[in-house]
Amino acid sequence: MKFTPHAPPPDEELTELLCEFCAPDSWEECDGGESDSPQHCSCGRPLEGSLTSDGITYVLDQAEETARDGYTGTTGIGNGPPYYVGSPMWAVVSEWIDSLSWYHLDGDEGARCEALGRLFSKWDSRLKREVGS
Ligand SMILES: [Zn+2]
Repeated sequence: MKFTPHAPPPDEELTELLCEFCAPDSWEECDGGESDSPQHCSCGRPLEGSLTSDGITYVLDQAEETARDGYTGTTGIGNGPPYYVGSPMWAVVSEWIDSLSWYHLDGDEGARCEALGRLFSKWDSRLKREVGS
């Protein structure tokens, strides 16, 4: 799933970035700037910003920690913003991992990202079976 952040028109002051579902038509797509952690719209959807290399490391570390908590782990972020209410923590982090496909990760980071992607897609199939969709 991909969400492109939208910014206000150039003549308006930039106060927030919104996802494509929340931004009015007059707002323009933007790259969201560089960040050390994933950015989210106020609705909770992850925004596709450019992560710094620290940001990529952060995402991989968080995802591995979440994977260790297991399928039913619900700690941390993801319980607040509307988009994620009722979602397990790993579902949030799984979208972060998806967004890493934007970057050309090699070596160790590429391998970590791939392993996490495989795990989360397995959990995703399991979740879909459970809710019967
Ligand atoms: Zn939104």
